[in-house]
Amino acid sequence: TSSENGQITAMYQVANELYHHILVNTQIGEQALAYLHQRGLNDDMIAEFQLGYAPPKAVLQAVLKEKNKNLDYQILRKSGLFSVYEDGSLNDRFKDRVMFPIRNATGKIVAFSGRSLANDPNTPKYLNSPETTIFNKRKILFNFDKAKGAIRREKKCLLFEGFMDVLAAYSAGVKNSVASMGTSLTDEQIYLLQQNTKNIDLCYDGDLPGQKATKRALEILTPQNKFNLRVIALPDKMDPDEYLQKYGAEKFRTLINDSHETPLAFYMHFYEQGRNMDNEADQLDYLSDVLAEIAKLNDPLEQNLYLNKLAERLQLDKYYLEEKLKTLRQQYL
Ligand code: ATP
Ligand code: MN
Ligand code: MN
Ligand code: MN
Repeated sequence: TSSENGQITAMYQVANELYHHILVNTQIGEQALAYLHQRGLNDDMIAEFQLGYAPPKAVLQAVLKEKNKNLDYQILRKSGLFSVYEDGSLNDRFKDRVMFPIRNATGKIVAFSGRSLANDPNTPKYLNSPETTIFNKRKILFNFDKAKGAIRREKKCLLFEGFMDVLAAYSAGVKNSVASMGTSLTDEQIYLLQQNTKNIDLCYDGDLPGQKATKRALEILTPQNKFNLRVIALPDKMDPDEYLQKYGAEKFRTLINDSHETPLAFYMHFYEQGRNMDNEADQLDYLSDVLAEIAKLNDPLEQNLYLNKLAERLQLDKYYLEEKLKTLRQQYL
């Protein structure tokens, strides 16, 4: 019910204030604060995004009940802030994690993502809130509430993979950026974007998972025919946050503003990976992958541009590429 949702929203706000307080004002939070500083987030950024720290011991129930004497067990359970044991008892879901509040489009906190401080392969690096009556992760883009104005002003939205990348960009003055919630883009997220801009720059991690995610995002966004899509490719398997830490804000902004490529330019690099481009069998596979992408283009001029590039890349006669393309095009008519 809507009154339940109001109560749960209030609980997230209280929880966030507590986590933020623990991070910035207490000894328990010192290590997490040092961790964030070391990752390049200063106190202004920590305040702006209301980052927090969930301590190793359970703290939440006591504080929530102190704030609201009428909180009943069912609401606590439904809030997603707790893990529920078999005997029904509740324990804080987030422990010993740096807390990133996740806000809906109007800026209300509806979930958390908690990053583990330990480099332990047995604990997940990020732990997200479960879906609740106030949190549908398909509908949320991290930082959309803050970025919306900048997206409209800059007439462009940058899409990152991770929360830390969005924060890195923000600290470098790039404020028109969002991240999806660790999954493929959903129709609901695309609709949010579409209402605010035609231009999307994909800026995912430079490693193979990031490149595969870029390909998937292009496959989801291209058929919509509503966006001008560009890809900002990160060098050396870096992610945007690592790039900023290594090269500084100036170079980061240059990368973001000047190094975008077209989807086809991205595909021409992408399909080379794992292939020996001196081997004829690999060349043929490459050729058919790239041609299939060219065949999906609507603009004949653009098709011609990339046919030329492909012919040049493989030292082939463009005539045969054109013939092959005609056959492939039949499949898309
Ligand atoms: P960091 O810089 O803190 O290591 P990252 O953002 O670079 O984090 P990646 O490993 O590149 O982390 O993952 C990209 C995104 O995928 C994360 O920001 C997070 O949203 C999601 N993600 C990663 N690992 C997990 C996990 N174990 N559970 C849920 N989501 C995850
Ligand atoms: Mn990654
Ligand atoms: Mn990353
Ligand atoms: Mn990272």
